[in-house]
Amino acid sequence: MSSASSSVFLSVVIPVYNEEPNLPTLFARLYPVLDGLGKSYEVIFTNDGSADRSYELLRAQHAARPDVTRVIDFNANYGQHMAVMAAFERVRGKVIVTLDADLQNPPEEIPKLLEKIDAGHDYVGGYRLNRQDTVFRTWASRLINVVRRRTTNIEMTDQGCMLRAYRRAVVDAVVRSGAINTFIPALAYSFAGNPAEVGVRHAERHAGVSNYSFYKLVRLNFDLITGFSLAPLQLFTLFALLCAAGSFLLVLVLAYRRLFLGAEAEGIFTLFGIVFFLLSVAMVGIGLIGEYVGRTYQVVRTRRQYHVREMLETKPRDL
Ligand code: UDP
Ligand code: MG
Repeated sequence: MSSASSSVFLSVVIPVYNEEPNLPTLFARLYPVLDGLGKSYEVIFTNDGSADRSYELLRAQHAARPDVTRVIDFNANYGQHMAVMAAFERVRGKVIVTLDADLQNPPEEIPKLLEKIDAGHDYVGGYRLNRQDTVFRTWASRLINVVRRRTTNIEMTDQGCMLRAYRRAVVDAVVRSGAINTFIPALAYSFAGNPAEVGVRHAERHAGVSNYSFYKLVRLNFDLITGFSLAPLQLFTLFALLCAAGSFLLVLVLAYRRLFLGAEAEGIFTLFGIVFFLLSVAMVGIGLIGEYVGRTYQVVRTRRQYHVREMLETKPRDL
């Protein structure tokens, strides 16, 4: 895992999936910004199983700037968050910045994040000042924001913005947690002691189309909710309890009628009352089991889930 003797100040982490048309511009804009900081840095790219020539471009960039460029090459596509996680496990910097490769987050905004880190924050989340996404994406993420606020205690203006800065301790905590399929900004937030936010510019995708299909977006947001709270299961249990209470009242009413007013349709309604009640009891039981399965799932899913095919770096380290 991480070494304590990190001599690098900044690690920039960039997941790359089929970003061939964007990489040249990214390199041309990112490196001058980082050189201009006057601090030591490294850039870690994770090639997340790209099917285009992204990896060749990353290879060339590593050859051009071997001192500051590291490339992790996945054998297949494991998703943006696993790509970031693999880089987190290997960072050498004291401060870590995550960035998208498609230039939707302008690299020129990195110094803004670092100012906040200098001011003593250990987690700086960017939020997009002028979001350049489709109306559907914008509204969908607003909806998810509301759900997240109600079901978890994670405060975040814009969970979709990957331009973020973390102090090393927060990143190490994320790595130690061993979480997979998780929402890294939210997980990191839960480990932060002094989080802050800063507005950053947002651009349209420089080239190509979003790698997120509708299904992937739904999955991601589902992970966000189920990965950080058991609220869905708890709500279900509550609902089952209400049903059980209602059915119990029904049983009482029917019992009263049966005893004092006589049998109705040969007692069939009494039977219904009892059946409803028992059914509700069963539902509460299922809800409760669900709670425990959920908790077990949270523990069980701490397993690694990616494979690194090749690692390009100047000082290979045993990890
Ligand atoms: N990405 C990745 N693996 C994937 C999908 C995306 O590494 O399976 C990277 C992608 O190259 C980009 C970032 O994650 O750097 C964000 O992806 P994208 O721009 O497609 O997402 P959006 O901006 O539409 O949310
Ligand atoms: Mg994008």
